[in-house]
Amino acid sequence: MKAEIISVGTELILGNILNTNTYYLSKRLWEIGIEVLYHTSIKDEPKFLEEALNIALGRADLLIFTGGLGPTSDDMTKEVICKTLGIDMELNKEAEKDIKDYFYSLNRPMSGNNIKQAYLPKGAQYLINEIGTAPGVYIENSGKKIIMLPGPPKEMKLMFNKYVIPLIKQDYIIKVQTINTIGIGESSLETILMDLTSSKNPTIATYPKEGQVDIKLVAKGYDEDKVDCLLKEMKERISGRISEYIYSYKDEKIEEVIVNKLKRKKLKIAICESCTGGLITSKLTKIPGVSEVLERGIVTYSNKSKVEEVNVNKTTLDKYGAVSEEVALEMAQGILEKAGVDIAVSTTGIAGPTGGSNKKPIGLVYIGIATRNSSYAIKSIFKGDRESIQKRAALKVFDELRKIL
Ligand code: AMP
Ligand code: MG
Repeated sequence: MKAEIISVGTELILGNILNTNTYYLSKRLWEIGIEVLYHTSIKDEPKFLEEALNIALGRADLLIFTGGLGPTSDDMTKEVICKTLGIDMELNKEAEKDIKDYFYSLNRPMSGNNIKQAYLPKGAQYLINEIGTAPGVYIENSGKKIIMLPGPPKEMKLMFNKYVIPLIKQDYIIKVQTINTIGIGESSLETILMDLTSSKNPTIATYPKEGQVDIKLVAKGYDEDKVDCLLKEMKERISGRISEYIYSYKDEKIEEVIVNKLKRKKLKIAICESCTGGLITSKLTKIPGVSEVLERGIVTYSNKSKVEEVNVNKTTLDKYGAVSEEVALEMAQGILEKAGVDIAVSTTGIAGPTGGSNKKPIGLVYIGIATRNSSYAIKSIFKGDRESIQKRAALKVFDELRKIL
């Protein structure tokens, strides 16, 4: 079954709100094996809706509309669809009662135009909205399934999961296997996997994020075991070639992997950041339960703070400068001692856009790693603007931690 999602709302077109409904529905539809082919967004205007409906009927079997089911005059999804398809509308007594009850439960008077919402296409299935007034609608027309859901994401999600899924679920299965990689670029990955990327089932696609690439394998079929087997085989072939860059198969963030590894090994970590300004600590603290492993994270931005907080030698600073292998090392060792942890990391670098020189260019970052047994520093040069350099430095820290853990 091929699906199209049509979002109705001028606010979406103007960029006033983000179209989260499409994002959510696409994800959920894929999960239940329905291929989404098109996303369409349109203004609250009948001619665009009529046009979008006709186009969608020509290319998809399942049409999901969201928005435009409200009580006001600009809400016209049902009306336009009915007019275009030549279906009459009629008052649905059950919907009328639910809308009245809804206002009664809120102890609010129902305004006259809310009754408009209880008019549904003749022969349609009424989809109850338990947390709002706009009823959902399901109709079948010339072999096509047409669904209308309200725009507010909470209402849409609840109704989709409770009422729509049972109406559209099918036996065809689509499964996705993600392979999260770090430390290798998309083009290098593609070169290594060249002969595999033409595979039709599963398909292989790469999705680069800043400093990372996710590989998505999508397998389809009617037999779940076969689909699982296709995914497993391809996953193993890919892993065999790029294992050193893979940090997860669970579609998770690298910092989640780090925190889990630290937990499993019962190790504590402390972070001393200069050029990343707390980004590493911030990323870690977004993960629930990190307090088990994160002892502290401090930002030592000035030279003075590097001396006072983590005992960096003033002579080291004078001799090598704040952005140096030696200072990165002393920062990591300093916080390791002070915090009494098992692993410590530090960053010091030049995030730009000013402050670079020939010897120390913008993007130069030293990362210090200290453990009870050994310490070392690594030098990297990152490209991009200030924010990218900081992000990439943080990722590099996580990548390094992944390797030593
Ligand atoms: P409507 O059903 O068109 O009256 O939409 C009501 C409200 O739902 C809008 O004002 C938006 O705040 C929200 N909404 C509508 N469509 C979307 C969408 N595609 N994604 C996220 N929110 C939406
Ligand atoms: Mg609207």
